[in-house]
Amino acid sequence: MQITPIRVGIDNFSYLVQCTQTQKCALIDPGNNASEAMKFIGSKNLELVCVIDTHHHRDHTADNSRLAGLYCCEILSSVEDASMLEDVTRTVSDGEILMVGNMRLEFLLTPGHTPGSLCVLADGKALFTGDTLFIGDCGRTDLAGGSNPQLFASLQRIKSLPDDVIIYPGHDYGEVPSDSLGNQKKVNKTLLAGSMEEFAHIP
Ligand SMILES: [Zn+2]
Repeated sequence: MQITPIRVGIDNFSYLVQCTQTQKCALIDPGNNASEAMKFIGSKNLELVCVIDTHHHRDHTADNSRLAGLYCCEILSSVEDASMLEDVTRTVSDGEILMVGNMRLEFLLTPGHTPGSLCVLADGKALFTGDTLFIGDCGRTDLAGGSNPQLFASLQRIKSLPDDVIIYPGHDYGEVPSDSLGNQKKVNKTLLAGSMEEFAHIP
């Protein structure tokens, strides 16, 4: 597996995840401009199998339609967020597995930022967290469909994953672009909160 982070817009991250044996790839969150991802796919002669939207917000999904028009690929989102999106061709549920070449992508439903926010666990080693978890922080819950208790529960679920999983967030908000979950468990205030009450009072 090879992961290529691509900066999109002001501070969004798109991720091109590729199976190095088959050259099949998935694009996680195309953002509002997939041009660089498309250039990369073309230059490496990759086969784009699917676009995965971690959630429905436009800064993560605006270029879905362009990709759908140019590639013979699926556009995936959760069932819950699909109603807010155009161009979705396949919805996934919690725990569902998708093979892209020899890569195993597992979808975790982690609501809170939106009702259908997804995290994608690739080969058990890399977790693409969208706007659920950032480096040093978590996503906001004050937009439509957001829920603080749901986000807290989703963060507890992420915390249960092994320490050596690497977190790849949907925005470049932290001191580093990505980090191990083990380190984030030590320094990220939103993961350190041990109760819903504590979580609700994080400044
Ligand atoms: Zn968002």
